[in-house]
Amino acid sequence: MLSMKSKCELCAAPLDYAAEAFICSYECTYCPACEAKLDACPNCAGELVRRPRRVTGLREIARRTPARVARRVKRSRS
Ligand SMILES: [Zn+2]
Ligand SMILES: [Zn+2]
Repeated sequence: MLSMKSKCELCAAPLDYAAEAFICSYECTYCPACEAKLDACPNCAGELVRRPRRVTGLREIARRTPARVARRVKRSRS
């Protein structure tokens, strides 16, 4: 699972999990306004791609996965 950052590394704009954002392979995270000015990640020169938005919560994961898997999800967050 991506460790989703909650703000842009350049301008510190808040980036909600469900907001549009761009990341590099090292998970440097940028808002769309900064990404438009960047050709590549200024930290690692890596390619920037659109971050998948997280619109569901653990409740949704638990509902769709077998109980055994759901227990593992819960434990890994505690
Ligand atoms: Zn930004
Ligand atoms: Zn980077």
